[in-house]
Amino acid sequence: MRIISAPGELTELISSFKKNNQTIGFVPTMGALHDGHLSLIHQSLKENDLTVVSIFVNPLQFDNASDLEKYPRVIDEDIKMLGENHVDVVFVPEEQTFYPQKPIISIDFGVLSERLEGKFRKGHFEGVGVVISKFLHLVDPDRVYFGLKDLQQYLLIKRMCTDLQFQCKVIGVNTVREESGLALSSRNRRLSSEGLKVAAVINRGLNFIKKGIIEQSDLQRLLKEVNKIYESEKGFELEYLEVVNPADLSSIDNYSHLSELAICVAGYVEGVRLIDNLYLRLK
Ligand code: AMP
Repeated sequence: MRIISAPGELTELISSFKKNNQTIGFVPTMGALHDGHLSLIHQSLKENDLTVVSIFVNPLQFDNASDLEKYPRVIDEDIKMLGENHVDVVFVPEEQTFYPQKPIISIDFGVLSERLEGKFRKGHFEGVGVVISKFLHLVDPDRVYFGLKDLQQYLLIKRMCTDLQFQCKVIGVNTVREESGLALSSRNRRLSSEGLKVAAVINRGLNFIKKGIIEQSDLQRLLKEVNKIYESEKGFELEYLEVVNPADLSSIDNYSHLSELAICVAGYVEGVRLIDNLYLRLK
């Protein structure tokens, strides 16, 4: 496994792969890797000749200095895990060489970044857009992999790649969960064992709505009941719970006309911000 931190060294290596007509799969991450990341990596290993994984905690996408500072960083553990999983290249840029000057450019996703996460994390997607564009220029992959746990990120990047004609395929990978239903996340490392139990309520709420929708219950009633479930879980502080049309992420209060929807939630446990969603195909 090659471990590279200089962008120039990465592009040289990538051109040598391209000369040999090898296909490249790319998995961008912020590290503190877990089985969710591994599921993206395994899919890339299966579908491409070579797999490149990046580890970079991108300061541009954090609207909160303390969240950035507390983001878990365990680079030695990560590199060991990637080696054991037969990844070909790990790109771990230093902030100063990756951003020799703070980019003044920013990607505006219009109304799509004003909804859900974008409403609560100002500038988050603008920063994600810049870092992913930069990575896509450097790695020039055939396929890039994103987790559907971050549904809005996946949809926005897919749209960005269409609008800007990036040549890669954007592939969404299903969410990997704990037995309790809690979505795996690097942020879970910051939770106590009690906090992990509390956080399982997030997915219980989502499944309650899913079951209700399958039984064709009224959406407003379901949302009220789940809000009550969330309120009664001491230690969980809900930020938002919304059912949206995945086409434009607009909030819906009735699903009879829709062929798909997503139930999206964000909240805090022990001061740690967690998100999750369930996607449902209806027809
Ligand atoms: P992160 O390191 O949190 O930026 O995540 C890197 C990639 O892994 C993103 O595309 C995430 O959506 C994806 N990911 C994170 N957690 C999970 C999970 N539990 N299941 C599947 N993919 C995930």
